[in-house]
Amino acid sequence: MSAELIRAPEPVGEGALADHPRQLTDGFGRSFPYLRLSLTEACNFRCSYCLPDGYQADGRPRFLQVEEIARLVRAFAALGMSKIRLTGGEPSLRKDLDEIIATVAAVPGIRKVAITTNGTLLPRRLPGWHRAGLTALNVSMDSLQRERFKTITGHDRLPEIEQGLALAQALGLPAIKLNAVLLRGLNDDELPQWMDYLRDRPFSVRFIELMRTGDNEAYFQRHHLRADVVIEQLLAAGWHERPRAADAGPAREYSHPDHRGTVGIIAPYSRDFCKGCNRLRVTAKGDLRLCLFGEFGVPLRPLLQSDDDHDALLARITTQLGLKAAGHGLHQGQTGLTPHLASIGG
Ligand code: SAM
Ligand code: SF4
Repeated sequence: MSAELIRAPEPVGEGALADHPRQLTDGFGRSFPYLRLSLTEACNFRCSYCLPDGYQADGRPRFLQVEEIARLVRAFAALGMSKIRLTGGEPSLRKDLDEIIATVAAVPGIRKVAITTNGTLLPRRLPGWHRAGLTALNVSMDSLQRERFKTITGHDRLPEIEQGLALAQALGLPAIKLNAVLLRGLNDDELPQWMDYLRDRPFSVRFIELMRTGDNEAYFQRHHLRADVVIEQLLAAGWHERPRAADAGPAREYSHPDHRGTVGIIAPYSRDFCKGCNRLRVTAKGDLRLCLFGEFGVPLRPLLQSDDDHDALLARITTQLGLKAAGHGLHQGQTGLTPHLASIGG
């Protein structure tokens, strides 16, 4: 068995709940201040690496309701979690998103409420999310060129997204990040344009290495590009890697004195990627997923139906965290349960 597949030796027993740590930690000393909560599997885009045929509903899925989300977040907050990222699918398709944000933001201990969105609904809905307590925004923008953006996502919506980003700045949202998946042959020559873009905009662009999932194997072979290529270009253009904070997530951050914006690199195939893992995931149907590419999900939903199950919920979460593996098996081609990232909340 490879080192990456070794499991934590001693799961914390459910009986050990009384002295559960205020900070969630696993058997490898990693702590988890950060939950990514998927609100829906549905999406209005057809990104070629994620849902190339668009979202296909499986029956009439029932995603977590506001009261269930409130109980879930109270449990994670009781275990020391302070940041929640709402994701999907496309979380902005939830009509009750303002209420969800307000509910999550009101939980004692939660200091940051972020959202990852394709940005199409920002012009219409961002003011409501902001009023509800949103503190950080990640918008996916795989190309700065309108035609390419349309080719990659299946939709000609780049102008609205740019309008939404201007609105986010006007509202004074403290953290605005952009996500761009690196795609060989589709957007791999845009770094100079991104550098120009970041000269006067205080955004952080995260270049994400394409991840192989259950559904995208042929696409991955065609378009995967190692993030090292971008790092080399950044260094050659005078960008510097910033010192990593002890609690930093898996992104490596680069800055340049002449640019207000910064660049983050997310390279899931790099050697140390899993060492920096600081997040857990819960799917839109309430399964705890310990790893984006894990082999199993743990149903929490049965314990989200009543406040009386709060302690049992804490016990289930801490027990499962003891089973978190040291790393993913992507290098061995093991994509786990994940057919595409829209199904788990990428
Ligand atoms: N729909 C929202 C969006 O696109 O921002 C949130 C969900 S999406 C799954 C979250 C992030 O995962 C997006 O930035 C997307 O580009 C990224 N993503 C999806 N599939 C990916 C893959 N196979 N490899 C790398 N990143 C991926
Ligand atoms: Fe939808 Fe996000 Fe997947 Fe694109 S990456 S298809 S916007 S869930």
